[in-house]
Amino acid sequence: MQASYKQPDEQGYYGAFGGAYIPEMLYRNVEELRGNYLKIMAEPSFQQEYRLLLTDYAGRPTPLYHAARLSNKYQTNVYLKREDLCHTGAHKVNNTIGQILVAERLGKKRIIAETGAGQHGVATATVCALKGLECIVYMGEKDIERQAPNVARMKMLGATVIPAKSGSKTLKDATNEAIRDWINNPNDTFYIIGSVVGPHPYPDMVARFQSVISKEIRTQLAEKTGSELPSAVIACVGGGSNAAGTFYHFLDEPSVGIYAVEAAGCGIDTDKSAAATQLGKPGILHGSRSFLMQTEDGQVEEPYSISAGLDYPGIGPMHANLFVTGRGNFLNATDQEALDAAFELAKLEGIIPALESSHALAALKKVSFAKDDNIVICLSGRGDKDMETYMKAMGQ
Ligand SMILES: *Cc1c(COP(=O)(O)O)cnc(C)c1O
Repeated sequence: MQASYKQPDEQGYYGAFGGAYIPEMLYRNVEELRGNYLKIMAEPSFQQEYRLLLTDYAGRPTPLYHAARLSNKYQTNVYLKREDLCHTGAHKVNNTIGQILVAERLGKKRIIAETGAGQHGVATATVCALKGLECIVYMGEKDIERQAPNVARMKMLGATVIPAKSGSKTLKDATNEAIRDWINNPNDTFYIIGSVVGPHPYPDMVARFQSVISKEIRTQLAEKTGSELPSAVIACVGGGSNAAGTFYHFLDEPSVGIYAVEAAGCGIDTDKSAAATQLGKPGILHGSRSFLMQTEDGQVEEPYSISAGLDYPGIGPMHANLFVTGRGNFLNATDQEALDAAFELAKLEGIIPALESSHALAALKKVSFAKDDNIVICLSGRGDKDMETYMKAMGQ
């Protein structure tokens, strides 16, 4: 495989980032996946089943919606890619459907996953129910308390939720527990990772599954404007999977501006932030080399964002490469800017976005686009899960 902005080389490197930094005990598991994922994904029977599930189960293609009132306000043409209308309410299911089909073809009967806010846990529990496979989700004990509705959803879908009680009792600890489980069950277990992170081949595999987003944008935009190419695409970045999917088929088109929006939390000049490219430096986290927030002596720093899905100390290796090469423009939005953008979209368009997606929307205030530009923003998820935060913001 020739490395490019969108695909890594044989060893899983996007420029200086990526690779597979794993303990010896995991080598067999990762190698089995690396040796098979492209072959499996290329099989006609895989493609047929994947497409059918995306259509009839997940609800694809999702609409590309011309947001007229938002466009008028910012004096440009804004299109929203409506991933919020996917089954389970976000883009994450594009990936879990793909990975469950890979797991099935590798003969795995037991699925494990890690989750922070519970969104990836729900998307994984959903496809396990669909396929009748055992599902174990590791979740920090603190997150289990904070995210009760998603814990209930996972249980209703038949998953077992195991609390991670070590460390800060959040996502990073849940990930460690999931890796430990995988080491102990190398033969029958498949680990479904929720973003474009982890050891090679996960970032590439997840990006390919999410790339359906930009594939659809090209077709839909051509129908609406006569050109497949927008002036710019914008997406929020936690680990970076909705952004990877939104950017994928535009990365080799130099005329298309690429905008990634990270969560600034209380601001990048405070100690409560999650903007990994601005505050991080190169290092190794969860199996790959990328940008991550760390202390002087290399300990991972606790990130902070109002949105649970962006509350991650790192960023996928594809994005680290887009950042250092300058192919991508990296912006950040604070909690308050994201809240303002969410309320604006609700009032102007009748759409309540997820807090994560609201960070992408906040870019409209940070970049000025020309009147005849066509801008596509990925609306990665819907806001139902964030109503408690929105109510607090309204003083209720
Ligand atoms: C999880 C999540 C994100 C962040 O994850 P990425 O891998 O960066 O896409 C963004 N938006 C929503 C709605 C999410 O649920």
